[in-house]
Amino acid sequence: MAMYICGHINPDSDSIVGALSLSYLKNKLGTDSIAARQGELNPETKFILDKFDFKPPVLKTKFAGEDLFIVDYSDLAQAPKDIGEANLKGIVDHHKLGDITTPAPLECCIRPVGCSNTVIKSLYDFHGIDIPKDMASIMLCAILSDTVIYKSPTCTQEDIKATQELAKIAEIKDIKALGMEMFLVKSAIEGASARELVTRDYKDFVMNGKKVGIGQLEVVDLKVFDGKRDMLLKDMKALKDEGERHSIIILLTDIMNEGSELLAISDDEGIIENAFGIKLKDHKAWLPGVLSRKKQVVPFLEKAFKG
Ligand code: MG
Ligand code: MG
Ligand code: MG
Repeated sequence: MAMYICGHINPDSDSIVGALSLSYLKNKLGTDSIAARQGELNPETKFILDKFDFKPPVLKTKFAGEDLFIVDYSDLAQAPKDIGEANLKGIVDHHKLGDITTPAPLECCIRPVGCSNTVIKSLYDFHGIDIPKDMASIMLCAILSDTVIYKSPTCTQEDIKATQELAKIAEIKDIKALGMEMFLVKSAIEGASARELVTRDYKDFVMNGKKVGIGQLEVVDLKVFDGKRDMLLKDMKALKDEGERHSIIILLTDIMNEGSELLAISDDEGIIENAFGIKLKDHKAWLPGVLSRKKQVVPFLEKAFKG
């Protein structure tokens, strides 16, 4: 029976590329593996796979009875609904430890680096498996995406070193130019519906028993959101009500000016204001220097929710 390797819901480039790069490694190591995804590709990921001629992982949302290895998360809220009935074989991740548990021992490699593909690169090195040129290219892209071209505070020396080694294999000379090319694709939001934008890079968390959704849109210029903020807020309100959430936050991240505009719809805006020491004006506030959801947003909200 083949093992599926799959990233989180609302998959990003790291989740998709991680499924591909880890399944290649596992196959090389003798475990029959299939890369899978829990949802549609975002435009950035589509660009990466097209550019380097990869087919997307298979779309799969039910894993009961299957062998499963997960990448880029360890939270139940980001898992397939039936993960409890799957045989969880392993986790590769770079986030805080989530709430997934297993009845049997598993392989687990969770490290505080900027990207799951940096962890996967270290696993190739550990096992002495060569990374093919095309695989190195997409792994490089995933790391550039997650680290916001090295600007995110989650980016470590190991991420930078991994991109340099991958770029060498991929014969890519200008790493940052490739990163900018990706982020320009990511910034093209014209034609996308409010729901597509709100959920494009969106995660639900449970904070002190309350359901909190946090989305993020990383662009090179916040001007793309002019005239769109009311539409986004309206849809956030709808999404909040649909899922009985306490709060929904969307970060509009300006990667050039290095900060995020926070949009919030909440049952208690005071908690969000306390988390960041801000005052919301018409559900909005600017957070200078904030680029990382996992490092600069989630921990502060969790603390504020605990009161
Ligand atoms: Mg991810
Ligand atoms: Mg990641
Ligand atoms: Mg990200």
